[in-house]
Amino acid sequence: MSAASKQMTMRGKLLHDEPMSRHTSWRLGGPADRYFVPADLQDLQYFLSTLAADTEVLWVGLGSNLLVRDGGFRGQVIAPLNALKKIELQLDGNLYVECGSSCARLAKFCQKKGLGGADFFAGIPGTVGGALAMNAGAFGGETWSAVQQVIMIDRQGNLQQREVDEFDVGYRHVDLPQAEWFAAALFRFPPRAADEDSKIRQLLRQRNATQPIGEPSCGSVFKNPPGKHAAQLIEASGLKGYRLGSARVSDKHANFIISAADTRSADVEALIYHVQDCVAEQFGVRLETEVRIVGEAL
Ligand SMILES: Cc1cc2nc3c(=O)[nH]c(=O)nc-3n(C[C@H](O)[C@H](O)[C@H](O)COP(=O)(O)OP(=O)(O)OC[C@H]3O[C@@H](n4cnc5c(N)ncnc54)[C@H](O)[C@@H]3O)c2cc1C
Repeated sequence: MSAASKQMTMRGKLLHDEPMSRHTSWRLGGPADRYFVPADLQDLQYFLSTLAADTEVLWVGLGSNLLVRDGGFRGQVIAPLNALKKIELQLDGNLYVECGSSCARLAKFCQKKGLGGADFFAGIPGTVGGALAMNAGAFGGETWSAVQQVIMIDRQGNLQQREVDEFDVGYRHVDLPQAEWFAAALFRFPPRAADEDSKIRQLLRQRNATQPIGEPSCGSVFKNPPGKHAAQLIEASGLKGYRLGSARVSDKHANFIISAADTRSADVEALIYHVQDCVAEQFGVRLETEVRIVGEAL
């Protein structure tokens, strides 16, 4: 579909110098030059078609896997959260889900419709767009294992349906075509067996028991290296509870970094590099960040 040919004016909300600390789960990050919340998909198509070709674009879902540096982001943020939020069960059994729907809403929708295999989404505090970009997963489930097709949007606002085999998908990794983003996806979840209960509550309880839920974090900062657990390597390096400024490695789960009200992104970034250096020195393994670091330093 070509870029919103019928629309002539923007209907969404465009903010200037918007503090990214309002839009990230670490509650950190300087201002984005421009921050756009579309009214709907057509509005986003129109808006993208008006952007200058050299404008840097950053998509932000719930900001639960993003470290935005203290100097902020020079360019245009696209924020589809709660704006592109359609979830529809189609006649063919596929689920059409727009990128700004939260993963928790997707899990609840599937629970209500008697669909299985989506419970793990309940504990991922992100949007479906972010989950597609990260191949988010938990408790044995992974986003892309249920994807049938994705609907991409490009810089000009054109939509294009793409097949799963057009993407290189791995553990917390998806190769995106340049200057295309996830507008929506078609998922397929199997009907839940009659005797199979939803595991949402149990999974959330398990999370609360093992993770510092409720404290500002980005979940796991580092990917697990093959055959190893990043948290175990960090703990074995003696870094549980380690502080840099007011950023600290969680006492409850060593792969989480917790921020405080006066923490700067620079402290978190420096702590990330410190953890990488210590683990590399002790175990010869360089941990790779799962968290994406963007923007300018002050
Ligand atoms: C307490 C806590 C627990 C967590 N537990 C888990 C877990 O169990 N499993 C797990 O996998 N993750 C977990 N995370 C990390 C995070 O929630 C996931 O990575 C989530 O998928 C990020 O979604 P988001 O919408 O917040 O993306 P953001 O953090 O906003 O963005 C992440 C990346 O995706 C890109 N992006 C966002 N939307 C789009 C789009 N529509 N198209 C293209 N690119 C896009 C962004 O540009 C960025 O590069 C946890 C985080 C927290 C805070």
